[in-house]
Order: sequence, then C-alpha cells, then structure tokens
Amino acid sequence: MAVYLLKLGELTLKGGNRREFERILRRNLAQRLRGTGASIQTTAGRFYVTCDESAEIPVETVLDRLFGIAGWAKTRDCKKIPQAVFDACIEEAALLRENGLRTFKVEARRTDKGFPLNSYEIRSEAGSLILEQFPGLTVDVHSPDAVIQVEIREKAYIYSMARKGQRGLPVGTAGRGLLLLSGGIDSPVAGYMMAGRGMHIDAVYFHAYPYTSDEARQKVVSLAETVGAYTMGIRLHTVGFTAVQMRIKERAPMEWTTVLLRMAMMECAQRIAFRRKAKCLITGESLSQVASQTVENISCTQSRITLPVLRPLIGIEKDDIIRTAKRIGTYDTSILPYEDCCVLFSPPHPIIRGEPAEANRIYESLELADLMDEAVRETTEEKCAFPE
Ligand code: ATP
Ligand code: MG
Repeated sequence: MAVYLLKLGELTLKGGNRREFERILRRNLAQRLRGTGASIQTTAGRFYVTCDESAEIPVETVLDRLFGIAGWAKTRDCKKIPQAVFDACIEEAALLRENGLRTFKVEARRTDKGFPLNSYEIRSEAGSLILEQFPGLTVDVHSPDAVIQVEIREKAYIYSMARKGQRGLPVGTAGRGLLLLSGGIDSPVAGYMMAGRGMHIDAVYFHAYPYTSDEARQKVVSLAETVGAYTMGIRLHTVGFTAVQMRIKERAPMEWTTVLLRMAMMECAQRIAFRRKAKCLITGESLSQVASQTVENISCTQSRITLPVLRPLIGIEKDDIIRTAKRIGTYDTSILPYEDCCVLFSPPHPIIRGEPAEANRIYESLELADLMDEAVRETTEEKCAFPE
C-alpha cells in the first residue's frame, strides 16, 4: 500500500470558509480518484490518500493537478514504536542517497504525547542513526537538500520527498465562470488561472465553418480536455458564428470588423452564461498584446454586457503566459497551425482606440439580433473530461 500525505493550500482561510474548502476539496479528490481504488482519510485537517502500489501513477497525477493542494508527499507509515520509526527514517535516508542528495535534517512533530520520545529526542536520535549508517550524508540545518519529516499521529508517518501541488482554491468554491476559449495560447491559460481561484469553468467557442475547419474545432476540444484535467472537466459550448461574421464583413467599415466581432462574441457569451448561471465571463486578453486589446477597445467590447469580464492575463507578459501554457500542457496544441475565426477579416489598419458610442452606433446598424438568436439556439454542448 502507498500512503500520501497532503498539505492543503491557503492556510490563512479561517473558520467556516476553511471547513467548506476542505469539504469541496475532499469531494473533488474523491471524484478524480474514482476508478483508482484509492481511499481518502481526513483527520485533524490532514488529508491522507491510500492506494495500491499499482495505482501510484494515476493517483500522483491527480495530486499534481488538483487545485487546493499546496504539496504532497509519499509517506511511510509504521507503528508508533521508536525502533520502527527509526528504521523508517533509515529507509528514507537510503532513498535520498539513491537520488544523489547529500545534506539533510530531521524534523519531528508529535500530536500523540504517549509516544515515549519527545520531538527533540526523535530528531537527534534519528539524525545520529542516519549519520552512522550513511557516512556520505551530512546534516545541514539551514538549507538541507532534503528534510526528513517524522509525524507521530494516529500512526507514525515518515517522509522526505515532498512535491509542490497546484495550490490555489478547490474548484467549486467560487461559482461558475464562462471562458471564451479560442484555439490560441492565452485563453486556456486564463481558464486554468480562474479555476485556481475556485471557479467552475464552462467554455464557449465561436466557430466559423467552413472558414474555420473541423480541425480548428478539434483543437479547441483538445484544449478543453487538457484544461479540464485541472478544472474537474469542462462543458464546451460551440456556437456557429459564420452568419454573424459574414454580416459584419458585409456591412461594417473594414477597420471596425475585429472590434465588432468581439462585441458580438461578448453579447452571445453573456446569453449562454445566463443560461448556465455563470457569474462572469473570462477571456485571455492581455493589455496591448494586439490591436483589439487596447484599453479603449476593451471598453467597446464590454460595452453591451452587464456581467463582469475577468481577464486574469491582463498584466502578464507573453513569455510568462507561454511558460504557464507549457507547464499545464496546452502549449503544443495551441501552436498547431489551424486558423482561428479571425481569418475572415484581418483589416490592414484596425481601429486601435475605438470609441464605445461610435462602436455601438455601427453595431446597431448591422441588425444582428435575428442572427444572434439563431446562433444561440443552435449552440451545441459537450462535456470535455481529461482522457485518463
Ligand atoms: P488567444 O491566444 O486566447 O487566442 P489572442 O491573443 O489570440 O488570444 P484575441 O484573438 O484578440 O487574442 O482574442 C482575445 C480573447 O477573445 C481570447 O483570449 C478569447 O478569450 C476570446 N476569443 C477570441 N476568439 C475566440 C473564439 N473564436 N471563440 C471563443 N473565444 C474567442
Ligand atoms: Mg486568438
């Protein structure tokens, strides 16, 4: 059997919030561990996951990805007998040596005061036994390569190789948000970030078939699946937007087309959000990254809707966004060369500082209402879960 000890995130949360956080984290964990045969134990604000050795890889994948876990470690558990505890410490030290680590310290905590040694005694005794056994290892109390942790609780737990988790808040503690998901680099990262603040994520993709291909849509599905591994799955809404885009292209001044398309997307997304009881929209916009993302044009694109638009990437540099995209596994899909919906129009001189009153005057002249109703009515839905 393998035992994992989980360290929870955001320890500053107090009282009722904290209980709610733990309840939802436990529920998410149980849902994601389904099929692995793993079980969850919670005692005194600690989470343990126990599983068969054959399930270690899928279980560790879940622990790596679930929001709300600050860190986790595979632990040895043993009887609360000093000799058993010291043997486990020696085994742990052997593991460190195998991994090429040279310096260590031992830390001990004891919630069971019935254990015959206090934490100071556990530390010094374990430390000297390890030094005796492994002359290659030395103690460094300030910046050791590894810390061997001993915890005397219901059982004794010994571990050293702690891994960082995603941190953040468990998905489901902050309501639902609707992500505008394109096939690009930015929007998948934006969805990931808001899920990390506890939001449930639905996604909407605007498709302009046949100007955008089935492959382009497939790419979005695949991004939704990858992000879905962190967000407890994603429900993806696909909106056929060809007619709306054609109307904009036919009737609007060329330099305004991109801003008007964004306005139409926002309006349509808000209607889907209302239907799904989502409390906000989420986009991958980053200030001044492209012409449509100046603060003036952002004023235009949000001028027709009332829901807040969350833009977690607004102040983040492209390099940093790319780094996150690589870490979460969306980057390679995002850079596949399928066209996105803007191929219908890329005006050579787009409006850079649009004025909302003017934008709305043009928008209204397009008479989009019927086309928008139709697009909303024909929207399709699918659940994208991570293929395990
Ligand atoms: P991304 O990398 O996310 O595609 P981008 O840098 O290409 O962003 P834009 O094309 O200006 O920027 O899009 C800004 C935001 O608008 C995107 O991050 C996304 O949230 C939304 N968006 C753009 N196109 C679509 C689409 N076809 N379907 C859904 N949302 C879209
Ligand atoms: Mg894009």
